[in-house]
Amino acid sequence: MEKDKKEKKEKKQFKAESKKLLDLMIHSIYTNKEIFLRELLSNASDAMDKLAYRSLTDTSLNINRDNLEIRIDIDKEKRKLIISDNGCGMTKEELENNLGTIAKSGSLDFKKLYDKEKKDAQDIDIIGQFGVGFYSAFMVSDKIKVESKSVDSEDAYIWKSEGADGYEIKKGKRKDTGTTITLSIKEDTEEENYSEFLDTYHIQSIVKKYSDYIRYPIKMMIEHSKLKEGSKDEYEKEIVEETVNSMIPLWKKAKKDITEEEYQNFYSSKFFDYDKPLKTIHTSVEGQCSYNALLYIPSHLPYDFYTKEYEKGLQLYSSGVLIMDKCADLLPDYFSFVKGLVDTEDISLNISREILQQNHSLKLIAKSIEKKIKKELETMLKEDRETYESFFKTFGMQIKFGVYADYGVHKDDLKDLLMFYSSTEKKLVTLDEYVSRMKEGQENIYYACGESTDKVDNMPQVEGIKEKGYEILYLTEYVDEFALQTLTTYNAKKFMNVSNDTVDLDNDEEKKELEKANTDAKDMFEVMKKVLENNNISDIKFTHRLKKHPVCLTTEGELSASMEKVLNALPNDNKVNAKMILEINEKHPISEKIKTLYKDNKDELEKYTKILYAQARLIEGLPIDNPTEISTLICDVISEN
Ligand code: ADP
Repeated sequence: MEKDKKEKKEKKQFKAESKKLLDLMIHSIYTNKEIFLRELLSNASDAMDKLAYRSLTDTSLNINRDNLEIRIDIDKEKRKLIISDNGCGMTKEELENNLGTIAKSGSLDFKKLYDKEKKDAQDIDIIGQFGVGFYSAFMVSDKIKVESKSVDSEDAYIWKSEGADGYEIKKGKRKDTGTTITLSIKEDTEEENYSEFLDTYHIQSIVKKYSDYIRYPIKMMIEHSKLKEGSKDEYEKEIVEETVNSMIPLWKKAKKDITEEEYQNFYSSKFFDYDKPLKTIHTSVEGQCSYNALLYIPSHLPYDFYTKEYEKGLQLYSSGVLIMDKCADLLPDYFSFVKGLVDTEDISLNISREILQQNHSLKLIAKSIEKKIKKELETMLKEDRETYESFFKTFGMQIKFGVYADYGVHKDDLKDLLMFYSSTEKKLVTLDEYVSRMKEGQENIYYACGESTDKVDNMPQVEGIKEKGYEILYLTEYVDEFALQTLTTYNAKKFMNVSNDTVDLDNDEEKKELEKANTDAKDMFEVMKKVLENNNISDIKFTHRLKKHPVCLTTEGELSASMEKVLNALPNDNKVNAKMILEINEKHPISEKIKTLYKDNKDELEKYTKILYAQARLIEGLPIDNPTEISTLICDVISEN
């Protein structure tokens, strides 16, 4: 009784979200339960990496790096699976902080995913998206004990938990630095054979499957049969300790010896993404700089990609030893989605972070990696269009940012990776494809901006250009126009917004005709401009660019209406105004109507002017300041007819 009470008192609760995750793990129907071993072995390997790295700079630690190893022991009778390492270990606080809360899962997203009603369906999502590390062990065990002694602590501590109702921490006896995790494997059920996790050969095969490349030996006691001494047919059992992993880092193996599955398993375990990567790049470079790199382009946006928590970078190894987890200098921002690692002999093991940044070899490697990624993408575009399009839909935004970032210094490197939706092809096309099929006499690369391709397709300004048979690029993301403006030209062809007032499709005769119409109507337009004088309209004129539509807005100069929208949405006080021109279709009956009103009924002309302007703004996706007034005016006008 007494003891019971005491224990209850000491039991600590998991943080709310961790508790939910644990609950999920305990009742998991995830079929791939064996991944728990990969997670634990990868933690053990990380712990040894940390210790090895520490020992490089802290000689007082007196660690022989050759002795670092992982052990897996099995006690079938007691149903225990024991994983031990002699890595850096955890202090009491670390046990509490690391194992009492979810480390990787980014709390908010997790909350969204968790839905008790739909628990089963959500299961795989969570494991798939985050990789749940240590917690995954609860898929196969009902009790977990972690005994750990940190390099930074005199004492060892034991963390124990039987699942979602909490954990306890007490002093342990362990003398050596490191961690031992004891899993009490669940009893078998009708659906699930947990006992296989107590089978030496099965465990051995899981290690081979997921953790073969781990650089430290993973040792197990394996039973063999051998001929009895002096006998020809009598066998006896012998138990020997064996290292079950090959210990060769995957990236050091020859490409031909690596299966797709191995590349993928490695990716999942290292980068916590359980979806197949879109592209694996394995490369080995000798020359100006020498390195091995294993790079992955994910098939989807990392869940935290657009948060400030996202850190770009590649793991950096110096001759096989991890020296930095996310070396940002190895990747340009526009390739920040790339995951992977670089192993090089050109950078010394104990280089400090500050010096690393200045390091010449690092810069050479970064340049070379950037080139390699670019080349792979270009090849993909040429040879595997479908995959490239899927890549571009996911990460194209980064490439476009890359074009206009840093005042466009990278624009030439990136312009051939760009794609935009085409009015004629009805799919994504490259600039090269656009230019190569430009019609005779076509001077410009036309583009139009809007919220969606459908909306752009209905824009009045698009009409006339389409009728001429010219292709138009539909820009639907806010960076698009900024990227094109940074490029200014492609193959000496100028980019031209269809809403720019200089777009000119008429022949000489038509031009003259229009000029005359505009001169004749000069006074009328002055009157109309007066009506709109508070509306930032720099001009009103007749146009031939429209076909069916009566009006549209165009802009003068480089700042377009859509750029104005983007810039004014930025959180600063530098508001800009695009120079808007109200253009009226000269061939539309409305032009005759306003001319008549100008002669006979100036009051009515005022109403029409306001309505036409409001219409043009609506079509452009711009707000109108006075919707009630406009709606009253429209009613007036239609009631008169
Ligand atoms: P992750 O490994 O994704 O960070 P885990 O839940 O697997 O998440 O582990 C949480 C943390 O616990 C690790 O980041 C590490 O700091 C610590 N940890 C886990 N296992 C060990 C171990 N064997 N030795 C030392 N530290 C460990």
